[in-house]
Amino acid sequence: MLAGGTGSRMGRPKQFIHLRGRPALYYTLKAFEDCPQIGRIYAVGDRDRIKELVYNAGIEKFAGCADPGEARSLSTRSGLRLCDEDPETVVLIHDGSRCLVTPDLVGRVVAAAKGGVDGVVPAVPVSDTIKVAENGSVSATLDRAKLRAVQTPQAFRLDLLREVYGAPEERLCAATDDASLVEDAGGRVAVVAGERTNIKLTSPDDLVLAEAILAARGVDHHGERHGVFG
Ligand code: C5P
Repeated sequence: MLAGGTGSRMGRPKQFIHLRGRPALYYTLKAFEDCPQIGRIYAVGDRDRIKELVYNAGIEKFAGCADPGEARSLSTRSGLRLCDEDPETVVLIHDGSRCLVTPDLVGRVVAAAKGGVDGVVPAVPVSDTIKVAENGSVSATLDRAKLRAVQTPQAFRLDLLREVYGAPEERLCAATDDASLVEDAGGRVAVVAGERTNIKLTSPDDLVLAEAILAARGVDHHGERHGVFG
């Protein structure tokens, strides 16, 4: 669980912003806690704040916290150093700021990772037309039918992750997700259906959307969930 960002685009660490009365990271941790296929949760970020949150929320699967790195991938590498599980263990890497992830999506990613692939990413089709813009003008229009917006959690075997995260820091820092490192190493990465609500808190607008989605799921102003909502 990556929660080591400084939130430069939000102006404050987004994983600790309160949504319906609880820090965003609470909802992220709870989705993994509530997924039966998850055995342990490791976090990367502010140790004191995360431990306090884990304690208050009763996250029983929490197994440790690592210091963040200067880039997302360096935070991932830091977190991997905590993992002392067997090499063939499936590890999920998740953006803590994707706090609307559901136990169902987590479970589907784990199941797909056991299907003889090198990695799994959840993704959704894109609804906008995507163009390449250079120096203020369009240089290409991409084929939308083939494009996917990729989310987390992404799943890989621990031994493969250790191998690709042995790459030079320059290469690691250029990667915007974990799967791209596995793809570059020749690995086959499967795509499963993501969820449109699995947004990453990035800009202030996302907070409005996240609050609305939590409300639609029956989460009250104290972060408690009521009723049977999707
Ligand atoms: O910056 P970005 O939106 O790609 O961050 C994705 C996730 O990675 C966030 O949950 C953020 O907290 C985490 N991150 C991190 N260490 C960094 C940068 C980002 O753990 N140095």
